[in-house]
Amino acid sequence: MTTTTGPQTTPDTLRGAVRGTVVTRDDPSYDESRRVYNALHDRRPAVVVHAVDAGDVMAAVRYAREHELPLAVRGGSHSVAGFGTVDDGLVVDLSRMRGVRVDPAARTARAEGGATWGDFNHATHAFGLATTGGVVSTTGIGGLTLGGGMGHLARRYGLSCDNLIAADVVTAEGALVSCDNERHPDLFWALRGGGGNFGVAVSLAYRLHPVTDVFGGLSCYPLDGGVARAWQEMITVAPWELNSILVLALGPEEPFLPERWHGRPICAAFTCFSGPEAEDEKVLARLDGLGPVIGRFMERMPYPVINTLFDEQLPPGLYHYWKGNFSRGLSDGAIAAHMEYGATMPSLESDTAIFPIDGACHRMGPEDTAFAYRDADFSHSFGGTWTDPADSDDNIAWTRAYDTALRPHTQEGGYVNFMDTDDQDRVRVNYRQNYDRLRTVKRAYDPDNVFRLNQNIEP
Ligand code: FAD
Repeated sequence: MTTTTGPQTTPDTLRGAVRGTVVTRDDPSYDESRRVYNALHDRRPAVVVHAVDAGDVMAAVRYAREHELPLAVRGGSHSVAGFGTVDDGLVVDLSRMRGVRVDPAARTARAEGGATWGDFNHATHAFGLATTGGVVSTTGIGGLTLGGGMGHLARRYGLSCDNLIAADVVTAEGALVSCDNERHPDLFWALRGGGGNFGVAVSLAYRLHPVTDVFGGLSCYPLDGGVARAWQEMITVAPWELNSILVLALGPEEPFLPERWHGRPICAAFTCFSGPEAEDEKVLARLDGLGPVIGRFMERMPYPVINTLFDEQLPPGLYHYWKGNFSRGLSDGAIAAHMEYGATMPSLESDTAIFPIDGACHRMGPEDTAFAYRDADFSHSFGGTWTDPADSDDNIAWTRAYDTALRPHTQEGGYVNFMDTDDQDRVRVNYRQNYDRLRTVKRAYDPDNVFRLNQNIEP
């Protein structure tokens, strides 16, 4: 006769197996350990493992499986959907794994899975090199790259995932697998856009490009559909060294914007030109052509600096609820929806950001990586960001109404990294023709759906 004794390990034996820290509810640091960037997700995990190496991650994944604990993975902690935490489950926190090793001769860098773009940009800038990353320095390289990765260098060098050349992944079995185009190519294909579905990337290796200083900042205009139309015309024909994100927001209380515009709806071109300084004037001329400039902050700065300009406005602890859609071109209907909701932006922290994803992002075919929307020209992200939990219902309702108004004028899918928890019904269309292949890879590497706290591809 066999008897079932249940799991043999306890948090204490897990503590013995990891070099990092294992935090449970009775620990004085529990509240700090369980906190994520988006205050909307106030969850109480059973265990948080602050891993320091691949071995810790392997032990944590095995422990979660043995105890049938839901498993959340957290790098930079920026998941707006709150996927980096879970009630009564185990969180693998990678924020102590942030090393970046640059090989300047090969123009590559390998970073640990918990590094932020601030860590990465700092390390590569020392060698005059960079790759496409997020526009806020505190965002994690892990979540951003695995979902795709849009930023200031995307038109010139492609998405972050297009620059990924290899990864070391802890699988659902708790094993370590190294993948690239030759080793486990199916897994490597799925990682480039398929999100956190396939395992924990404990290190990611990237191709780098020569980028030192850039000319960038904000040019502000009154909120007006004509500015949006002119911006589209400008960016579509602009050289790929020029990136410009169209932002709709309430005028920030900044010295470069006259006081009468503070708190009033505006459009802004958040621009980064990585071409030669001699052409900066041409960039200004393009921006002048978009409409009446009501305020401007544009200067030459080191590439890492442009990715910190909004760090202070977006500290951890705010409440966020976002949505995202892709589009080919920017139709009059889409512009009208943006203008309507741009005029009723609920707070100074809220914004809409329309990222151009043409240029080098279109070099890859729709099936070359898991990121399916290679025909999209723009990725729209929009949503409420607020400080008082009493405002949550209003902000969520506003974001949903905005999405309803915009959806008929955009493509069926959107960027998984801008989706919220209630967007699981869009996962199939977000991956389009790649969904079935992703499912096959999921079945091979995670048949029990251990990694399910994400925009989930069910095995
Ligand atoms: P986490 O919350 O740590 O992780 C999110 C999810 O990603 C995890 O639940 C897990 O499923 C997965 N994950 C993270 N790390 C790993 C890993 N090492 N291995 C396996 N899975 C992992 N997106 C853009 O493309 N461009 C931008 O410029 C941009 N700016 C942003 C600015 C802000 C302020 C915020 C909040 C988000 C922004 N995003 C941007 C969206 C961003 O890409 C996603 O929020 C992304 O999930 C953040 O990754 P993270 O590692 O910080 O988040």
